[in-house]
Amino acid sequence: MSNNALFYLTSDDMPVVSHADGIYIWDTKGRRYIDGCSGAITCNIGHNHPTVKRAMAEQLDKIAFSYRTQFESQVALDLADRLVDLTDGDLDKVFFVGSGSEAVESAIKLAVQYFVAKEQPERCKFVSLRPSYHGSTMGALGLTGYEPLEAPYRSITIGSVKVPSPDLYRYKETSIEEHITSVLEQTEKAILAAGAETIAAVVLEPVGGASTGGRIVTKRYMEGLRALCDRYGCLLIMDEVLSGMGRTGAWFAYQHFGVVPDILALAKGLGSGYYPIAAMMARKELVDVVGRSGGFMHGHTYAGNPLACATGLAVIDVMESEQLVSNSLKQGSYLRQQLEQLALKYDCIGNVRGIGLLQGVELVRDKTTKEPYPAAFNAFAKITSLAKDRGLLIYPRRCLNGLAGDHVLITPPLTVTVADIDEIITLLDESLAAFGQIVLEREACS
Ligand code: PMP
Repeated sequence: MSNNALFYLTSDDMPVVSHADGIYIWDTKGRRYIDGCSGAITCNIGHNHPTVKRAMAEQLDKIAFSYRTQFESQVALDLADRLVDLTDGDLDKVFFVGSGSEAVESAIKLAVQYFVAKEQPERCKFVSLRPSYHGSTMGALGLTGYEPLEAPYRSITIGSVKVPSPDLYRYKETSIEEHITSVLEQTEKAILAAGAETIAAVVLEPVGGASTGGRIVTKRYMEGLRALCDRYGCLLIMDEVLSGMGRTGAWFAYQHFGVVPDILALAKGLGSGYYPIAAMMARKELVDVVGRSGGFMHGHTYAGNPLACATGLAVIDVMESEQLVSNSLKQGSYLRQQLEQLALKYDCIGNVRGIGLLQGVELVRDKTTKEPYPAAFNAFAKITSLAKDRGLLIYPRRCLNGLAGDHVLITPPLTVTVADIDEIITLLDESLAAFGQIVLEREACS
């Protein structure tokens, strides 16, 4: 067999994965890698966890699949209750789906159907941030503020009113406070220009992941956004597909800001990579209004799948018994200190940001002016590949259009210890030294 049929295979020398344990992954050639980014910030509890494997096997012995219009499964009922408890009752209803994009898609549809049911069908536009990432399906892609992904599909996605995302590193105003004021003013202006009575919801990632390399917002910004939604009668949707389920050192990132969304999208950490499961959570009032109008016109074959829900329950059990949410906060602050030490040592690190074990590093050509590397230099890909050569997996992304420079995410499983972080930092240090050498050679040639 030629083994070249996979559509998305990005390189001929892509290693083939063999097995994994804890924070380590091995390829079929016997090379070991530290999973410094939990795959795609997904495998929060680490690989090969016995509790999850046991729970999945037990569920498989009972039933793997049942369809929700014929039966409900006890694990789906229990997982929904557990999630509501984790929000401390801020949100009271749960709809299960299979991926982050589906969770965001479900949020869009619930918001639209809510306003149709309230006889306000004109409220069908969305406001979202640039840059941002909300998924690959047509609705979620329409909200996404990331030019290369949006551009080919602009004519067929729902689109959204794009407003600037707060940027606590590259802001132009004289202080962060003024920057937040300005971003909120621009957001309000955009809402009014689009027609406030036509807006269904404002959507944001409370802590950016792949889209912004761990950009965080401030409490005042969150409160300001909530106040705008309340003033103009639209909903606030938070996309915590990546930041949710303990990643930032709270069960949900919104809890850091004390601002509650009307709808919340969850995915990655919920199944922690063991089985695809995602969820949309919402306030009861929304679900009741939609329910009275004939029910939510939405669904997926795998919604509430027993195997997926058994996995989600076991993941939460592990998170609780191993106290991984508090470990994320504790180890996240150690990781942050170590990354800041590297930033003192290397001129190419312009900014370190994030919260808990969601930490981003922005690479710049000039630390003083914050000038990014030229796009063609592919700094994000170079540093990621240098790290992989040394057995460290990190998550890369380039932001285009001068929105930000290249960045990488350091987001290990929430089980990491100080010794694990030291190992990650040693390998990153070596990779940055090699990167510096490449930069020197390039500057010498130019
Ligand atoms: N929203 C955010 C914030 C994400 O990070 C992602 C995935 N990177 C998605 C939505 C889409 O999730 P999925 O890839 O599971 O469809």
